[in-house]
Amino acid sequence: MATTVPAIRVYFEGSAQQYNAKRWNIPNHVEPFEPLPADVTCLVVPRTRSLFMNAHYGERLEISLDETKTWGLDDENDTALIFARARTPTSTFCLRMVLNTEKFIRHQRSNRYQVLDRLVKDAQFHSSHLADLQGQMVPIHYGMWLMNTGDWAGRVLFSITQWCGVSWNVLELTQMNTKANKILIGRTFEALHDFGVIYDDLSHVESFRHAIIDINSPGLSHEDLLNGKASCYITGFSKAHTNHRCMRRVPILPLGSFLSDEEVGCVETADVLAPLDFMKKENTDVSASEALEWYAKYSELYPDADNMDVLIAQRARLYPTVPSVCEGHLTVTFNGNDEYSRAIIRRTAPVDSAEEQELTPDSDPDLSPEPEALSTVVDRLEQATLEGSATTS
Ligand SMILES: [Zn+2]
Repeated sequence: MATTVPAIRVYFEGSAQQYNAKRWNIPNHVEPFEPLPADVTCLVVPRTRSLFMNAHYGERLEISLDETKTWGLDDENDTALIFARARTPTSTFCLRMVLNTEKFIRHQRSNRYQVLDRLVKDAQFHSSHLADLQGQMVPIHYGMWLMNTGDWAGRVLFSITQWCGVSWNVLELTQMNTKANKILIGRTFEALHDFGVIYDDLSHVESFRHAIIDINSPGLSHEDLLNGKASCYITGFSKAHTNHRCMRRVPILPLGSFLSDEEVGCVETADVLAPLDFMKKENTDVSASEALEWYAKYSELYPDADNMDVLIAQRARLYPTVPSVCEGHLTVTFNGNDEYSRAIIRRTAPVDSAEEQELTPDSDPDLSPEPEALSTVVDRLEQATLEGSATTS
């Protein structure tokens, strides 16, 4: 019996543009994506504040439907990804779209091909490795979709993910740029590392374009937003790897002085600390050298404690007023009043740590099938009749 290919409509409000889109299966990729909620049959892209592109330096610019039509056709322009905020009566989604795919799909060296390649790799990483984190620190990923938009922008390949809010690159220029929110971003990266994922895509200029804070979370006051109470999500996992056994020795918190990568113990942790200004010279309750000294002594006293537990203990002992990395998912007490009394950590849910992930046979990035996978996109796209068609409303 033939299986039904999921299909939806995408409607650009205020225009005559309405298209049928079908789920597009990534070649040679079998891991499943989250199914769209059953009531999602039509995604509506509102007329204003709903279409964006990233300019250089991570700035996000609003563009019109007409402007998107030709955007990215010039291959000199490497920001060929168009973001759409799409709504249903009950939810909001993020569409990341690559337009006119048939025009460049045979040119694997083109910038636009590379943009598409990253979008597909991000999708693969989500379904292969991030299913347990979806909706908490990474967006829910609903897979790749394809629609034939005819005269508007040809064949459009796009991902559908949970709408998670606003990029830190935008928020850091606002009142939201508080120490509490920087700590929120830091502990989201720490939690990713503790899960065994290394992000591996932090460029100097736009380090936190992919850190998204949900400023529209229901029930949060303005004060809550400033105090780091909103949810933070990390997106864009096209270069990420699993099996990271994080050996950081300090938390991603204000440290008051510079530490080398070697002293931090994890290069990416140092790459997060620096742009958050957490290694700038200033007075802090706990100095960087005190944190390192505590780490070394506690590790020596309890050689059986794994690194994640040492860090949990360090945070609870030295930084008791900041939220824990796994806020709400564990409790820490100490079996004595000495500075180096052993921490008793009780988790409310099992931890899927890097250690456990090592058992997963396909988690070695060198074994992943990505390089060949996208090449067969050409064949898929050339099956012109199968993947949706343009309609007008
Ligand atoms: Zn790490």
